[in-house]
Amino acid sequence: MPKDRKYIILAAPSGAGKTTIARHLLNAGLGLEFSVSACSRTMRPGEVDGKDYYFLSAGEFCRRVKAGDLMEWEEVYPGHFYGTLKSEIDRIQANGHQVLFDVDVVGGLNIKKIYKDQAMAIFISPPSVEALKERLEKRATDQPEKIRLRLAKTKIEMDRASEFDVIIVNDRLQDALAKAEKLVRKFLDGR
Ligand code: ADP
Ligand code: 5GP
Repeated sequence: MPKDRKYIILAAPSGAGKTTIARHLLNAGLGLEFSVSACSRTMRPGEVDGKDYYFLSAGEFCRRVKAGDLMEWEEVYPGHFYGTLKSEIDRIQANGHQVLFDVDVVGGLNIKKIYKDQAMAIFISPPSVEALKERLEKRATDQPEKIRLRLAKTKIEMDRASEFDVIIVNDRLQDALAKAEKLVRKFLDGR
């Protein structure tokens, strides 16, 4: 693994603000590119195949796993597989960019184990579980039953926050964005 390659990992319970923070970092001129994951869930309105995810059927996903095409993968929700294609990392590095991952908590820690000091693992924490519930309901992209499933995972995920390199509490969004940008800039600059 060449030493100048850096990896930024954003992980959090669903609804904590990963996507919002990832978008900010991608537009901050840091030379980061988003690692588009593969997944087997259905597309949400407005999502684009190859941009938000590579949408695969569960069968195709399993075939790619067996072929050794994924560097990490997980059944994040029952029957829904998510993972990172090795080809995606190669694609980003061939573009001369550093990789930004937006993954779940277990996936984030697995990626940190692979890249060690070349990776900065950031845990985005909601100010409270109640605030998280409100955000998911307001975002209105998931059915109530899906929201319930996502919240059920939250406690287990919050318990692993201390295993990350840094924790950012996303309470006031502007503060969280500024803190994330400062930390990532420092890490990428090697300071
Ligand atoms: P994730 O990617 O972690 O699931 P999102 O970035 O989609 O989370 O955020 C979930 C919802 O909460 C979105 O509607 C987003 O606009 C909103 N949100 C994000 N950060 C904050 C914040 N600090 N305060 C209030 N709402 C927020
Ligand atoms: P969503 O369905 O809301 O897009 O994502 C569900 C969860 O799967 C989120 O926590 C997201 O970060 C996570 N996820 C997305 N891509 C990957 C991946 O490649 N690997 C793992 N482990 N989790 C992922």
